[in-house]
Amino acid sequence: MTAISRATSRTTRAQAPNPSPLTPVRYVNRAPATLDRWIEAHANVVKEFNCGDGYGTESGFAYDILLRAGWRRGDDFVHTLIEPTVAAMLAQLRSVTQCDCDECKALLPSEGPAQ
Ligand SMILES: [Zn+2]
Repeated sequence: MTAISRATSRTTRAQAPNPSPLTPVRYVNRAPATLDRWIEAHANVVKEFNCGDGYGTESGFAYDILLRAGWRRGDDFVHTLIEPTVAAMLAQLRSVTQCDCDECKALLPSEGPAQ
């Protein structure tokens, strides 16, 4: 696995009160069809999708997914997934599990339930 962990400050960004239980996934760039299908089927897990360069991967390109509050990568407390390929990203997404770290707990009141 070539996962690159990145503790992002974006998850601590102040959020406006969320009147609906689930805001739409934010796409900074268009996602490949396979990833797009997974994301839309798990819109309760994914907050934001991006892809591009500058992620420090070997190819210089990576997919970047920010998880909603209440979710984390399966093997650690990382809330942003960065992978150079769709297959690697799907593997990471399948490992995502519920999270009750302090950061998530602080964000949950404004982002809504993780369910
Ligand atoms: Zn968390």
